[in-house]
Parts: sequence; structure tokens; C-alpha cells
Amino acid sequence: MSNTTALTPETLGNNNVNVQNLVTVAVSEGDGIGPEIMEATLKILKAAEAPVEFEKISMGEKAYLSGISSGIPADAWDAIRKHKILLKGPITTPQGGGYKSLNVTLRKSLGLFANVRSCRSYAPFISTKHPEMDVVIVRENEEDLYAGIEHRQTQEVVQCLKLITRPGCERIIRYAFEYARSNNRKKVTCFTKDNIMKQTDGLFHQVFREIAASYPDIESDHRIVDIGAALIADRPEDFDVVVMPNLYGDIISDITGQISGSVGLGGSSNIGAQVAMFEAIHGSAPDLAGKDVANPSGLLQAAILMLNHIGAFEVAEKIQNAWLYTLESGRHTADIYRPDLSTKCLGTKAFAEEICANL
Ligand code: NAD
Repeated sequence: MSNTTALTPETLGNNNVNVQNLVTVAVSEGDGIGPEIMEATLKILKAAEAPVEFEKISMGEKAYLSGISSGIPADAWDAIRKHKILLKGPITTPQGGGYKSLNVTLRKSLGLFANVRSCRSYAPFISTKHPEMDVVIVRENEEDLYAGIEHRQTQEVVQCLKLITRPGCERIIRYAFEYARSNNRKKVTCFTKDNIMKQTDGLFHQVFREIAASYPDIESDHRIVDIGAALIADRPEDFDVVVMPNLYGDIISDITGQISGSVGLGGSSNIGAQVAMFEAIHGSAPDLAGKDVANPSGLLQAAILMLNHIGAFEVAEKIQNAWLYTLESGRHTADIYRPDLSTKCLGTKAFAEEICANL
């Protein structure tokens, strides 16, 4: 590894990284379709001459099965902490007790408090019932029912505690408004179930009201999460930025990903004060693994978010344009292939080659 820039907390998140130098990123290819979509993504980054180099790490199924209950070996932790940026393929969490969710462990250990998932339509080139949709889900990423406070009370009763803190609410809600402001978005909507969970979701809603008052330039509103979910599935074009506690965000961002055209299209960022992690919104899709059919777009979108995060705006735009051109020319992977819209159904490798040719 030569000529690399060590990222410090000061350089992260403020786009001040000097992209004249290469930035080293920890890369974990993941399980299932992970190796195929990661190979495709890295090939495109290389062809675009992105100013990054990679330290490959291994996490996930293999580590779990070798007895590491978190799925994250010590050398993977070292590389993530050293480089402070992780491009991550999807992980298969083995079924059964004793295994911790690797994603939850990473988010909590690295303080990745904001999970940002952008879900937009690429109509008319990709089939969707919602051609106007352009929604960003900002999901709180460390608290709520995912705080990991779960135990057995008796042989027949188990309990999971929902943890919501004022600092946690303030951080994620302020992040949503700052995101809206800096991305020229007009409205932030909050989803909670505070009619029932008056203390926990009540606090989230209360902090939302307080913070919204300090952003008079941005419209704000609140929906109870059940009707909010129904409305966003039916008329996503009515929503802009939507902020919510962890569990609701997990579920609703999959809905918005799917109705935008395919769950295979979206990327997400997991942002903390010092470390950031970028990944596709979908999982490891074991049913498609090894078949050269998976859509690498979600991971590629994650890589584009990563390039913007380190300040490599031009390369990010170049890759985004090549990707859009590929979609527009009807070169589609099987998940988005429609005989009336597409010109050719491509495998993972051929789709990546097409994007490289369009750079
Ligand atoms: P999944 O997202 O992996 O797959 C659901 C279905 O969506 C697949 O069967 C496939 O048909 C389709 N799909 C997903 N990604 C696609 C792509 N890139 N191209 C084309 N089609 C695609 O969800 P699942 O089946 O519930 O989970 C499988 C495994 O992934 C589980 O072990 C789960 O724990 C894990 N998972 C990991 C992450 C992560 O690492 N961030 C996220 C979600 C699920």
C-alpha cells in the first residue's frame, strides 16, 4: 500500500479529505451474492480511476462458523478502525442461537448512529408503479428494540426492551434536518407510534417537534407509523425525507427500496462521528449466489455514496452517469428486466462491463 491518506475524525464527514491522495478503505465482500457484486463494483471503481485502494477483510459466515460469535475477526476490527471507512457486502447470519448480528454489532461498536437509504424511481427506464418517488429514509441505527436488551424472564416469557434516549433522538433528528437542508430537500416527516408507546416514541416525537422549530425553512410533519407505512407504500411521491426509530426504519426502507423498482437498486450509508460504513440495502440473497444473476447496483450505489463521503465528487458523478446510461439503454439484470422496457438481460459480470464501457 503506497501513498495512502490516513483518515482522522477531523477529516471524516466534512468532505475535506484530500482526494489527490489515495484513500484506503476496508472492504468485506460478504456472503451469498456478496463476492460477485463486490467484484463487479470494484471493477467499476478501478475502471473509473476512483482515488481509493482497498484492504480486503473477511467477516461473516466463515468467521461465525469458525466460532467467532460476532462474525468479526480481530484483524477485521483493526482494519476498520484504522481506515475508518468500510465498504461492506451483505452477510448471511447463520440461523440458530449463539450468533450475534454482525450488522448490529458494527453499528453499535462503531457508533454508526444514522442509517440513510435513498429510494428513488428510475422511470421510465426501470418499471415501477411510482415514477415520481424520491424518498430518503433516515433511520436511527443504535437504539430502540435493536439495543440488544433481550432476556428470558421465565421458561415461557421472553422480553426485549425498547431503549430510546434524548441524545439519540436529538442526534438522528438533527441529522435528518441537516441532510434535508444540504440536499435541497423540502420536508422532513417523522414516523412514530406515540399514541401507544407514549414514553419511548413520545420522546422521539417530542424531540422532533423541538428540532423542527429550529428549521423554519423546512416543512415538517408527523405520522403514526402504521398509516405512515400504508401511505408511503401507496403514494411515496408525497414523502421527501422521513426520520424514524430503528425498527420502523428497517422495515419501511425495505418497502421503499422494493417499490422503487427492485431491492437490488439501493445503497445505504451508516454514518458515525468517526467511522462510516457503506452497503447495499439488500441481504446476501443465497438463492441467487454463484449464478451470475445478481444486480450489483445496490452495492455500486453504496460505493458512490462512499466516494461522495470522501470528497471524490467527480468520480462519483462519472460512475453514476455511466450507470444511469446503462439503465437508460435497456441493459438490465434479471431483477429489473422487462421485455417491453429492456433491450438485453445481462448477468452481474456483463452488466459491470457495460457500465465500464460507458464511463
Ligand atoms: P435478501 O435481501 O438477501 O433477498 C431477498 C430477495 O430479494 C432475494 O431472494 C432475491 O430474489 C432478491 N434480491 C436481493 N438482492 C438482490 C440483488 N442484488 N439482485 C437481484 N435480486 C436481489 O433478504 P433475505 O433472503 O431475507 O436474507 C438473506 C440473508 O441476508 C439472511 O441471512 C439475512 O440475515 C441477510 N441480510 C443481510 C443484510 C446485510 O448484510 N446488510 C441485510 C438483510 C439481510
